[in-house]
Amino acid sequence: MKPAPFDYVRPGSLDDALEALAGDSGAKVLAGGQSLVPLLSMRLAAPSRLVDINGLAGLDGIDAAAGGVRIGALARHADVLASPDVRRVQPLVSLALAHVAHPTIRNRGTTVGSIVHADAAAEMPMVLRLLEGSVEAAGPGGRRTVAAGELFVGPLESSLHRDEIAVSAWFPSLPAGAGVGFEEIARRHGDYALCGVGAVVDGDTVRAGYLSVCDVPTVVDLSGVADADLGDAALAHLDPGDDIHASADYRAELVRVLTARVVAAARTMAQTRAAQ
Ligand code: FAD
Repeated sequence: MKPAPFDYVRPGSLDDALEALAGDSGAKVLAGGQSLVPLLSMRLAAPSRLVDINGLAGLDGIDAAAGGVRIGALARHADVLASPDVRRVQPLVSLALAHVAHPTIRNRGTTVGSIVHADAAAEMPMVLRLLEGSVEAAGPGGRRTVAAGELFVGPLESSLHRDEIAVSAWFPSLPAGAGVGFEEIARRHGDYALCGVGAVVDGDTVRAGYLSVCDVPTVVDLSGVADADLGDAALAHLDPGDDIHASADYRAELVRVLTARVVAAARTMAQTRAAQ
């Protein structure tokens, strides 16, 4: 199948891009195209205009400082994954990115595009939600910061306005003495996961995030739960779905197994970092 006809513009400035978006109610932003172009080709989306943001200067930054990591809208997954500074400041971003698709897709796909695409089966929306990060959006009325807790409102649906462009995503740094873990099960490495779990352990606080389990990336507080009960405690807050890839029962079992594993891994990292 071929995409339905559309108008294509490649603005040279953010203001022009916002104007192009505002000027056509059927317009969509094109970033890496690794999710949007397949949707166009299958005619699951038929925007009247594509606003290609790849010509905008200054949106490809990856800045890792003491407080956290800021990733620009045109930073590719591959560049974020390759950054030693990102891995040092917030290792969960790097751990999870290693599971995003295949190298060719990571070379082109953007981390911010993946977040605002808001796929509950994708790694980075869950990581942003678990770390309580945020997205900075530019729109006709100026800029605003959208907390991850308010960003994911439904399957493939973010709370960004139609005429806004996400210019960056912010991931807070991992506190000293804290640890993270991430694991997922996919049929083949690089495929979307049947279930994925991330964990952050910081002192007595234990939190876990789930992808491919519910309709939106979901975070559960597991502080104070005995290790043997972690999976069942998480399942009390989750409603694993059934689809052609896995039954709900199988997903629930993956939640039990992976939750125990990632919390253990996060505790080990926390102990190692505390001893350094
Ligand atoms: P695009 O495809 O360009 O855009 C996606 C959507 O986000 C569009 O609606 C677009 O309008 C919007 N958008 C993008 N950027 C912005 C912005 N800055 N502001 C506002 N709106 C914006 N992803 C995973 O997480 N895990 C996987 O395992 C995985 N496997 C994949 C396997 C295959 C075979 C393919 C083709 C893709 C896979 N992906 C996977 C998706 C990949 O990570 C994409 O790169 C990512 O989802 C979207 O990023 P993009 O830059 O390509 O966005």
